[in-house]
Amino acid sequence: MKKNISIIGSGFSALAASCYLAKAGNNVTIYEKNTTVGGRARQFKKDGFTFDIGPTWYWMPDVFEKFFADFDKTPSDYYDLIKLNPAYSVYFGENDFISIEDTLEKICKAFEKEEKGSSVKLRMFIAEAQDNYNIAIKDLVYRPGVSPLELVTPVTMKKIGQFFSTISKEVRKEFKNERLVAILEFPVLFLGAKASNTPAFYSFMNYADFGLGTFHPKDGMYSVILAMKSLAEELGVTIHTQQNVEKIIVENKKAVGIQVNGTNVSSDLVLSGADYHHTETLLDNIHRQYSEKYWDKKIFAPSSLLFYVGFDKKIENVEHHTLFFDVDFAKHAQAIYDTPQWPDDPLFYASFPSKTDDNAAPEGKEAGIFLIPLAPGLSDTPELRENYFNKIMTRFEKLTNQEVKNFVIFKESFCVNDFIEQYNSYKGNAYGLANTLFQTAFLRPKLKSKKVKNLYFTGQLSVPGPGVPPSLISGKLTAQLIEKYSN
Ligand SMILES: Cc1cc2nc3c(=O)[nH]c(=O)nc-3n(C[C@H](O)[C@H](O)[C@H](O)COP(=O)(O)OP(=O)(O)OC[C@H]3O[C@@H](n4cnc5c(N)ncnc54)[C@H](O)[C@@H]3O)c2cc1C
Repeated sequence: MKKNISIIGSGFSALAASCYLAKAGNNVTIYEKNTTVGGRARQFKKDGFTFDIGPTWYWMPDVFEKFFADFDKTPSDYYDLIKLNPAYSVYFGENDFISIEDTLEKICKAFEKEEKGSSVKLRMFIAEAQDNYNIAIKDLVYRPGVSPLELVTPVTMKKIGQFFSTISKEVRKEFKNERLVAILEFPVLFLGAKASNTPAFYSFMNYADFGLGTFHPKDGMYSVILAMKSLAEELGVTIHTQQNVEKIIVENKKAVGIQVNGTNVSSDLVLSGADYHHTETLLDNIHRQYSEKYWDKKIFAPSSLLFYVGFDKKIENVEHHTLFFDVDFAKHAQAIYDTPQWPDDPLFYASFPSKTDDNAAPEGKEAGIFLIPLAPGLSDTPELRENYFNKIMTRFEKLTNQEVKNFVIFKESFCVNDFIEQYNSYKGNAYGLANTLFQTAFLRPKLKSKKVKNLYFTGQLSVPGPGVPPSLISGKLTAQLIEKYSN
C-alpha cells in the first residue's frame, strides 16, 4: 500500500533512499533544514569561484553506476566524469613528491623508483585488495547489518585472519620505505580510523585507489547531488528546504509524524538521514536506543578545518589533489584519536578543482580547498583557524616553492562549530562513525529502530559507514528494510 514517508535531511543517503522509496510507489517528502540540498556535500560559490564544501574524491565509480542502473539510468545521463591523471601527488619535503598516476602499471614504476622490488609486492597486494573489493563492495556492503551471520560466507571464512590483522601491519610486512607505507595507508583514512586500527580486509580501499582510479565530476561533486535531486523529483519525491525537523512524533511506540518549524506533519513512516545521534535527540528519552555514554565511547571519524580560497593566479607544482605528508603522521594521528588536541604540525590535503575544471575559477585564477583532519569536539575559535591557515600557507609556499599568501583574494573557513551548527553533527564530526573491527556491519547503529515502529535511519553513522559510495548504499539498504518490514 502507498505510504506517506517523511525523510529528515537531504544528504547522499537520504536522497538515495528517497529514490528507492518513491520508485516503490510511496509518497515521499524530504525536509531539509539548510537552504540547499546535499548535506555535507553542498557547494559554495563566490566571485566566480566554485567549491565543493565536503567530498572532493570520486572513488568507486561502479557504486554510482549501480545506483543509477537501479533506475534504468547511468551517471552520464546527468553528469560528465573526468578520470584524473595524476590521480594525486604526495609531498614529503621541499620539491619532493611522488605522483600517483592513473594505471597500476605507471604506479608500479613510481614504486620501483622508490624501493627496488616493491612493484612485485605491490601487484600482489593490489591483487588481494581487488579480491577483497569483489567480496566487500560487490556483496557484503549490500547487507543491512541486521545479523552477524551476514558476514559469514565461505569466502570471508577463508579471509578471517584479515579481520584480525590491520592494514598497517600488512603494509609494513611488505614495504620498508616509509613514503610508500604512507601512500598505502592513506586510502583507509576515508573510513575514519587510522590504518593501525583498521582491519586488513579493508585493503579494498587500496584497490579503489590504484585499481579503479580517481575521478572528477564536471562542476564538482555537487553535480552528483544535483543528479540525485533530479532523479528523486522525476520519481515524484517532494523536497522542502529550510524545514528544520524539531521532533519525531511517537504514539504507542510508533512513529506517526514529525514537527517541522513548529507544525505537525503526520506520516506513516519516518526515515532520518540526519546524524544518528541528533535524530535520537528528536525523540523522548524512553524512545532512544543509544545512551550518551554509548556515543561517547565510539570512535568517530575526524572533524576537519577547511579553507576555501580564491587565488589571484594559477598555482604551480600541485595537482588537482595534493597531499602534504611532510610531517610525522603518527603524532598528528595521536592528536586526532588518542589525546584529542590541535596538532602541532598537521598533515593537510589540498584540492585545486580549477586544474581540471574551467568552471571552478575565473580564467587565470585558481580555486583552492585545504583540509586539516582534527579530533571531533575540539574548541574552535577564529584565532585558531587563522593560526592554522598561516601555518599551512607558510609550509605550502616552502614545499611547492612559490608565493601564494599575497595572492589570496578571499578565504572562507569551515570547522567543528560549523559542522555542529549546519548539520547537527555529533561533536562536529566530518565523516561519521569510523569503520573499525568493532564498528563494522551489525556492530554499527541499526538502520531500523529497535524501540519505535516505523522509524528508520540511514547515513554515515549507520550501515555500512562513511563516504559517498557507502552513503548511496546505506540509502538503498534502509529502503529495502522499509519495504520488507512495513507492509
Ligand atoms: C570535509 C569532508 C570531506 C569529505 N571527503 C570525501 C571524499 O572526498 N569522498 C567521499 O566519498 N566522501 C567524503 N566525505 C564523506 C561524505 O561526504 C559523507 O560520508 C556523506 O556526504 C554523508 O552523507 P549523509 O547522507 O550520511 O549525511 P549528510 O550529508 O550529513 O546529510 C544529513 C542532512 O541532514 C540535515 N539535517 C540535520 N538535522 C536536521 C533536522 N533536524 N531537520 C532537517 N534536516 C536536518 C543536514 O542539514 C544534512 O543536509 C567527506 C566529508 C566531509 C565533511
